[in-house]
Amino acid sequence: MHNAPYINPADAASFEACARLASKIGIVTHTRPDGDAIGSALAMKRFLETRLGAAGKCSLLLDTEAPGQVLFLFSPEEAGETLVYARDPERTAACAAACDLLVFLDLNTLSRTGALASQYQGSGARKILVDHHLGPERASFDLVFSDTGVSSTCELLYLLLSRFPCSAGKDLPQECLDPLLTGITTDTNNFANSVSGMTLSVVSELLDAGARREQILEEIFNRYPERRIRLMGRLLDQGLTLTEKGAAVMVLDRETAAEFGILDGETEGFVNIPLAIDRVKMSLFLRQEAEGKYRVSIRSKKGWSANRLAVRYFAGGGHEQASGGQLIPEPGSGVEDVIALACRYTDAFISHEEN
Ligand code: 5GP
Ligand code: MN
Repeated sequence: MHNAPYINPADAASFEACARLASKIGIVTHTRPDGDAIGSALAMKRFLETRLGAAGKCSLLLDTEAPGQVLFLFSPEEAGETLVYARDPERTAACAAACDLLVFLDLNTLSRTGALASQYQGSGARKILVDHHLGPERASFDLVFSDTGVSSTCELLYLLLSRFPCSAGKDLPQECLDPLLTGITTDTNNFANSVSGMTLSVVSELLDAGARREQILEEIFNRYPERRIRLMGRLLDQGLTLTEKGAAVMVLDRETAAEFGILDGETEGFVNIPLAIDRVKMSLFLRQEAEGKYRVSIRSKKGWSANRLAVRYFAGGGHEQASGGQLIPEPGSGVEDVIALACRYTDAFISHEEN
């Protein structure tokens, strides 16, 4: 059998008992959620509702909107009921405050939840974490299911849900399958990264149970707006800097984003492209969020740690080969200065790691 993550049966039973006793459950994931965040959150919610009698007791609490590619996963009712802090701060905060159980998915620290982070920190609700990032902040939670060896939170969640006492002798509910397969598909970049025998075994079971891979692929990878592909062309041609050391840096400023009408989330995956160049060791994609503030996405080839670069220079973190953070350059810095700074940091990091 595959090297399955260890899930303590007593912990799975304890999770099930907490869910049965709770009167209001909040399902929370990281800010700017991706496919794994939304897939795991929806699968969790649907499982609690259909298997643990929590219908009407669960709320999905997002900090910012779900990206367009995964909206197909939501039923019209779910789309209407999901609370998004960025759109509806008062109701989202009030709902979070009313929960006596909070289930956190796909994040390693409460700070990743966004605007409500300190409210969650101070909340008296029982807190449970299911995650696959490096360095989970265990002290913040009552119960932690963490494994950094799985492809995705969705892979770990599939295994965890299968081990709940209520799952004995039963398949997972049908409505959990597509969200789980979506998260595994997006976090592995369609099975290019972080795939183990266990991942494929889980996916094999998902497909046998009825997960709709064809539709999921169509929704995720073949429904982008034209502007994304046009912008990709522009950036690859004119916005990509390579260094001798093997850093690739691509920067999208607000003017260019506006010129193409590009929305949040529509540059997902751009950071992976320069890694295909033979001499590139680490690829950085920076997107200007506000004047003087950039979101940083980092990907690295095996042997180079995106996580350590993110921690050291960009106040972030993530996984060994895929991490993120932010860059706040000196006031008055232009795009050229930001490119130079990102190149300098990454070159210094590569030099340091080579020695
Ligand atoms: P992405 O580049 O796709 O936004 O993020 C890659 C990975 O890094 C994801 O697993 C994400 O959770 C993590 N990540 C992104 N931004 C941050 C950040 O600011 N802090 C931390 N700790 N992790 C981040
Ligand atoms: Mn993930």
